[in-house]
Amino acid sequence: MPKTKVVIIGGGFGGMFTARKLRKMWRGGPGIELDIELISKINYFVYQPLLPEVAAGTLNPQDAVTPLRTLLKGVHVRLAEVTGVDLDAKQVVLLQGQKKILQRVDYDHLVIATGQVANLSAFPGFENHSLTMKDLSDAYRLRNHVIECMEMADVTRFPDIKARALTFVVAGGGFSGVETMGEMAEMIARILPQYPNIRRDEIRLLMIQWDPRILPELPEHLSEYALKQLQQRGVEVWLNTGIKSATNQSVCTSDGRSINTRTIVTTIGNGPSEFVKSLPIQLERGRIPVTPQLEVVGLENVWAIGDAALIPLPGDPNKPAYAPPTAQFATSEANTLAHNILNRSQGKSLKAFDHKSSGIMASLGGYRGAAEIYGQRVTGLLAWMIWRMAYIGMLPGWATRIRVALNWMFDYFMPRTIVYMGDTDRPATRYLHYAKGENVQRANEVPAGFYVVVSGSLEQVLQRPDSDPHVNQLLPGDNWGARAMKEERLTHGTITALEDSKLLLVQRQDFKRLSNAFEPLNELLSKRDS
Ligand SMILES: Cc1cc2nc3c(=O)[nH]c(=O)nc-3n(C[C@H](O)[C@H](O)[C@H](O)COP(=O)(O)OP(=O)(O)OC[C@H]3O[C@@H](n4cnc5c(N)ncnc54)[C@H](O)[C@@H]3O)c2cc1C
Repeated sequence: MPKTKVVIIGGGFGGMFTARKLRKMWRGGPGIELDIELISKINYFVYQPLLPEVAAGTLNPQDAVTPLRTLLKGVHVRLAEVTGVDLDAKQVVLLQGQKKILQRVDYDHLVIATGQVANLSAFPGFENHSLTMKDLSDAYRLRNHVIECMEMADVTRFPDIKARALTFVVAGGGFSGVETMGEMAEMIARILPQYPNIRRDEIRLLMIQWDPRILPELPEHLSEYALKQLQQRGVEVWLNTGIKSATNQSVCTSDGRSINTRTIVTTIGNGPSEFVKSLPIQLERGRIPVTPQLEVVGLENVWAIGDAALIPLPGDPNKPAYAPPTAQFATSEANTLAHNILNRSQGKSLKAFDHKSSGIMASLGGYRGAAEIYGQRVTGLLAWMIWRMAYIGMLPGWATRIRVALNWMFDYFMPRTIVYMGDTDRPATRYLHYAKGENVQRANEVPAGFYVVVSGSLEQVLQRPDSDPHVNQLLPGDNWGARAMKEERLTHGTITALEDSKLLLVQRQDFKRLSNAFEPLNELLSKRDS
């Protein structure tokens, strides 16, 4: 029997649960052969609602995630970044491996579940000076940053530096903003005794919210409860206030106020990723419009779910017109989609997506929560306990559940660790060594950056379309990569070490920043770059 190839892009709530459900349903035995492949930029599933707890040090980063391969037995998992879709050829175009090699993968059904990205371009300075809260690395970075600020504030002699280090701003009062602020407030309160030179009243926690209330998704009195809880724990909340711009030392609000701070966590400004923008699909409200059956409008067997998709809900005056971008909805959409892919493959009719929310909850940190479950409103310790129990139940994989539960238990009895892990990123400029005969670059790769030969020699074989191969020898001082990066193209040739050689690499993004800011460098290199 010919296999139907289902390619799913994205290993989050939408993608991972679609793959799982499809695999489970198909094993139940309908008369088709499925080949399911899930492509994701990261090889693990992140339970995003737990990220604020990772940022606060309640959970270890590795314990809050589950490897996709563990969750998806019988599904091919490919670690790669999808850069485009060729709808005519029914192929996904992706870059994979350390060397970012271009590949094409065929599909019969394509599922786009790539979520959204932080889009801060409307707020000058925010892209460079604010921290986001979207994935595990963001949470890890925020934890380190807070500890670094506390360490600095404890030793500095300069009052303005101390005030800046001890002012923590969260932009956005939705779920992720409130949960991040709640957890950050708790973490700071718990680690404070270890910093004898910092007084409690020197710490400033500030939340900036554009709406007239925080957690606007919750009924009004639960929003008020959440606001009071945060205020009682020392959080200043500025309502009806927008953010405007940020620098290395401050954030400016829409009403002209400036706050002296090194810490701005942004939880607003979601938008489509570069990949979604590259699709030949007319986006609506920054999302991919789909039919009620979750098929992309006008494209057969191309489906989209989760935060990336604009999903109409059945007409009901008590419901929003479109599915909200939440984990709960993405998981339910995944179930409907798995049914629809199987039904389409078997020539059966499709089901329209509908979901009745069982409730909505927020953890406020400090053992407090706010929730509405099946119409019942719950606050305080009980809501917080329900939040934890519900999330433990929803975590995929028993091993992750146990690890998270143990983390929570230890956190109750033990002090928070203030180990500062420092900057773990590799330096932007570094030396690379190659032995004789080792390959440095192949054709059709995304250039890793700008290379300079420091010592040794290399052979470059250039193969441009419609011309014979051209061989160059690269010696100390020779360089390559700048032109390919400028033209946004893949590499044309191979480069191999002729003897033991040492190269200097300036990484792609860093080199681009340098060349954008310093034009004479481009002039110089355009004369020399191969
Ligand atoms: C801090 C925080 C707290 C939250 N709290 C709650 C909550 O309490 N309750 C709730 O219901 N919702 C909550 N949400 C929202 C919820 O997490 C999202 O609605 C949900 O994750 C959306 O699922 P998704 O599959 O659409 O996207 P995601 O879960 O974001 O997954 C997208 C996946 O696609 C991958 N990807 C993206 N682009 C590419 C590409 N080009 N190539 C390959 N892979 C790609 C990403 O690496 C990722 O694995 C929270 C979100 C955050 C950030």
